[in-house]
Amino acid sequence: MEAATTGVTGAVRYVTGGKLIDCTGGAPIDNPVVVIQGDRIKQVGTRDKIGIPPNADVLDCGSATLIPGMMDIHIHTLMFNCLTFHNFRVAQWEITPELTQMYAMFHAQLAFDMGFTTLRDMGMLTYRGLLVREACAVRDAIEMGIVEGPRMMVAAFTTITGSHLDLILPRAAERLAFQNGDGPWELRKLARTNLLQGADVIKTCASGGGGTDKEEPDIRNMTQVELDAIVDEAHAFHKICAVHCFTPQSQRMALSAGADTIEHMVFSESDTTDMIKQAGTYVTPTLLHRTDHAIQLRKEQGTSLFVLNKMKRIQSDCFTTFQNMHKAGVNIAMGTDMGFDPEMGSSSGELAIYVDLGMSPMDALMTCTRNAARAIKLDKDLGTLEPGKFADIVAVNGDPLADISCLQQKKNIQVVMKEGKVYADRRPGHSKSVVDGEPGSWKIVDYL
Ligand SMILES: [Zn+2]
Repeated sequence: MEAATTGVTGAVRYVTGGKLIDCTGGAPIDNPVVVIQGDRIKQVGTRDKIGIPPNADVLDCGSATLIPGMMDIHIHTLMFNCLTFHNFRVAQWEITPELTQMYAMFHAQLAFDMGFTTLRDMGMLTYRGLLVREACAVRDAIEMGIVEGPRMMVAAFTTITGSHLDLILPRAAERLAFQNGDGPWELRKLARTNLLQGADVIKTCASGGGGTDKEEPDIRNMTQVELDAIVDEAHAFHKICAVHCFTPQSQRMALSAGADTIEHMVFSESDTTDMIKQAGTYVTPTLLHRTDHAIQLRKEQGTSLFVLNKMKRIQSDCFTTFQNMHKAGVNIAMGTDMGFDPEMGSSSGELAIYVDLGMSPMDALMTCTRNAARAIKLDKDLGTLEPGKFADIVAVNGDPLADISCLQQKKNIQVVMKEGKVYADRRPGHSKSVVDGEPGSWKIVDYL
């Protein structure tokens, strides 16, 4: 072990590429070298400034562009594998929490293979209750290094009877004790229980939503007193709180409660948008979940016409709200709401939508790096390529600033490194991936 001036220890390795985007907001650099020691970045610069000693350990990424490991801060790894179970309503009753946990691992790996080294999993409710322990087990197994995958933050639903998150279960389904709470003290207890089980994030909802039956998206969920209690409980344990908000009313409730992130961009009005900008609160757009392609996939999976029509009805509002919030200078951090596994691994498609809606490719890339890290309060260690941060580096064939969609093809994601270790290596002459096979290649079953 070699002691470094930065206090970082471990073996030294050099990563080279054609270009580097550090995602601090500065200009890209050509002929870059990233010096890694152990699991952290020691130095970033150009090849003529940083000498590479002979016999050094060099990971040569050729002409590839080096970017920070990407983050999707609104994803649902615990959703069903709908390429295995055609109809999600059937899957909802056939799949055990134990099997769901295996899917969560697999889904996390699909995203990891595509350059997403950090995920904030936004939780799941099933007929067997909230799957907090299952998500935490996946997170911990990856953290321990016994399976390969991205770093994960786990969110746990903490919400009221009949809320949007409760309606993920059909209305006729029996609710287990303790998966909802009503009034501040029940909600505090639910939040405490979720945190006791290992959740990193409390996830709640202040309005109706999209993907559920017999629910209008603009209804209110919860009272201010209830939301205040939930956010306060998260903060008491030094955890963060994410609030699903479709309406300006719910956005104001989230701001008033001191929520850390606002989830989704659906309806907006200018005064409330300005309040969000003033507060500096990060908003995750989840627009990949609003496209015609997303609606079509749900149609194929047996989603009800009510939900499909609702998704179509709010679609243009979502895109307009994104443009309004971007123009107003609201902090935006990337989240997709991906869950079904035909879509897992496709998170970077979200960035192409931002660019189509008028955001610069550099700003788009920063939503899934620096901004995402700031939103989930991991920016001390992650989000940019700077000395002292974890060596989460992705080498991309192509220039995302010229064509952001280059991030969507697996063959272009040449190297995925997390904390200094290479997990995927698709450079010429190498063929290491985290997951073998492409979506659609796994076995389809009708029942278990
Ligand atoms: Zn979600």
